[in-house]
Parts: sequence; structure tokens; C-alpha cells
Amino acid sequence: NGTIGILGGGQLGRMLATAAAELGLKTIIYCPEKTAPAFDVASDHIIASYTDETALKKLADAADAITYEFENVPVEAVNFLTTLGAIVRPGAKALSMAQDRLYEKEFVNKIGAATAAYHPVDDLASLKTGLDKVGRPAILKTRRLGYDGKGQTRITTEDADLSGAYEEAIAFAWDEVGAAPSILEGFVPFVCEISIIGARGADGDVKLYDPAQNVHKNGILATSTLPAKVSDDTADKARAVARRMLDELDYVGVIGVEFFVLESGDVIVNEYAPRVHNSGHWTQDACAISQFEQHIRAVAGWPLGDPARHSNAVMENLIGDDVHQWRALATEPQACVHLYGKREARPGRKMGHVTRITAR
Ligand code: ATP
Ligand code: MG
Ligand code: MG
Repeated sequence: NGTIGILGGGQLGRMLATAAAELGLKTIIYCPEKTAPAFDVASDHIIASYTDETALKKLADAADAITYEFENVPVEAVNFLTTLGAIVRPGAKALSMAQDRLYEKEFVNKIGAATAAYHPVDDLASLKTGLDKVGRPAILKTRRLGYDGKGQTRITTEDADLSGAYEEAIAFAWDEVGAAPSILEGFVPFVCEISIIGARGADGDVKLYDPAQNVHKNGILATSTLPAKVSDDTADKARAVARRMLDELDYVGVIGVEFFVLESGDVIVNEYAPRVHNSGHWTQDACAISQFEQHIRAVAGWPLGDPARHSNAVMENLIGDDVHQWRALATEPQACVHLYGKREARPGRKMGHVTRITAR
């Protein structure tokens, strides 16, 4: 018995609200949009901006614990809720670190895990210094607010002959994203990408799911495959990093940690998301306890559930017009269809996903 407040009303909030209902808990979705995928399934909602203190107070009064489903919730909102005495999980530290790629990388290195080479970029001069430091190819990313590959641009080796074309490429990159505080990253020659979905309970208990192998198309996650084709040693290395991050952040809830896997089998942290993660959607159909239930358990102060995987699976995102295949998918054996109830299938918009169980 209890009520969970959720900041953000997208598909992640929708699936969290559904999982909460399965545990007999109520949810209140808080978001600025007048319509949101999560409204359909939540017990209640509040439409207000994240800076509306009256509305935030209403949420704090109504909810026994509060969480968020997207990482760009203003940290001030979380701090304000906390000063009102609300329990917010995960806390402000995990959130603020994840909102800035520079602080995120400094944190990851501080706890002894590897990142791509990087250099903060505030002007054209620091971009050029950065290119000397991290080499080419490189990726220029905005420090804040990027997602689904937005706010990034590549500087390729072909641009790198230090001729006029190179200067042009730098200027282009600067125009694209450099105008905002940015970070230049060396391109990691990865053999594959994996992610670990982990959880830490209010009692400090940590549970980690198997690594998923992820393929991105146009900067957006396309598929997550279980099991990942990596050695046990690589999987253990990734798990160890995720566990350290959870402990160091004094984290409560589910985290998604993205890794690049090198030829050597070593792992490099790309980024983490302080929330349930798209590359963990397979847990809905291939585990007894999904990442959504796990997160709600943690936020509500329940014991965490068993993250064991009972099946092999491939999760495929339904992006934009992909969703129109729903009727064919619905007849496919062992295909678990999940749709988010979004009316308009805009290009690049996540409309749903299908998880195919490939072996038990
Ligand atoms: P998300 O939607 O996962 O939050 P994002 O916009 O934060 O995405 P990143 O995860 O930084 O973007 O990058 C998206 C993808 O681009 C990565 O999964 C990877 O495929 C590629 N990529 C990003 N940075 C690097 C890098 N330094 N080296 C090689 N590939 C990279
Ligand atoms: Mg990201
Ligand atoms: Mg990413």
C-alpha cells in the first residue's frame, strides 16, 4: 500500500506505472505536457512545470516516495522536493552527474573505470587542443541535454589532413554542437556495445541483470540481444563497474550503464542513465522480475527481486512507422508486443518495442 510519484510522463513512466499497479501501488505522474503516454495507466497525474513549487508541493504531499523517468528533470526540482521532506530515489547526486557528460566521465574515472579520452570544449581553441589530445576520429557532444544521438557530430579522419577541409570540418562541428558547452571524445574502436541494468535497494542490496548486446542505428537504440556475445570475463568486468557505480552514488533504484567492448575484452563506460533504460526492456519478457518492477521495488523500499534471465531474447524498438507492423507482429509466435499508445508516428520517435523470445 502506497503511492509513488513519477517525474516525467513518457513510455518509461508508463511502464513503471503499470509495474507499480501490479504490486498494488498507486502512481502519480508529474509532467508539463498536457497529454503523455503514462497518463493512460497511472492512478493520477499533475500537469505542471518542473519549477512550479506549488505543484511540486502537491506531489510531495501525495506521494510516499518519488522517482523520475527521464534524466533531464531539473536537479532543482529534486532538491526542492527533498527539502520538503520527500523521499526522492535515486537522489540528486546520481541525477546531476548524469546530466553533464564532463562530470559523468570525471566520476567514472575517479572510481577506477575507463572512459573514452575526452577534453572539455568551450571555444574553437579548446576544440583544436582537444583534437590534438584525443586524436581522430573524434565525436563532439554537447555536455547537457543530448539523447538518441542528438547534439553530437563526428570529426572523421578524412577531415584530418590539416588542410582547409580540416578547418572547415572543425568549424562545422563547432556550429553543430560546439556553441553550447561541449566535450570532445576520442572515437572508441569497439567490437560491440553492451549495457548492464543494475539495481540497488534502500538496504544497499545490489542486483544485476545479464549484459545486453546493443546495436544503434542513426544514434538510436535498434536492438538489444540476450545473451550478449561477450566472454564471461567481459561480462564480469562490466558488472563490477555497474556495482561500483551504484555503491559510490549511494544509489536507490535501477540504473542503465552503457559500455563499449574492446578487442581485448576490456570495457569502457560510454554513459549511464539514472533510470530504467531502453536496453533493459527485454527483462519484461525474459525475467521473472522486470527492470520496471525492480525499480518500483527499490523506490518503494521493498526487497529487490531475482534478476535471473529465464530465456534468450531479442528486443527490437519500433521507431516511427515501424509501429504500423503491429498486426503482423501480433500473430508472430513468441513475439511480445509492447505499444506506448502514442498517436503520431513521427520519424525517430519510439512508438513501442517487440521482444522475441528465441530460446528457453
Ligand atoms: P542515449 O539515447 O543512449 O542517451 P546519447 O544521445 O546520449 O544516446 P551516446 O550514448 O553518447 O548518445 O552515443 C550514441 C551512440 O553513438 C553510442 O551508443 C555509440 O554507438 C556511438 N558513440 C558515442 N560515443 C562514441 C565514442 N566515443 N566512440 C565510438 N562510438 C561512440
Ligand atoms: Mg545518453
Ligand atoms: Mg547512449
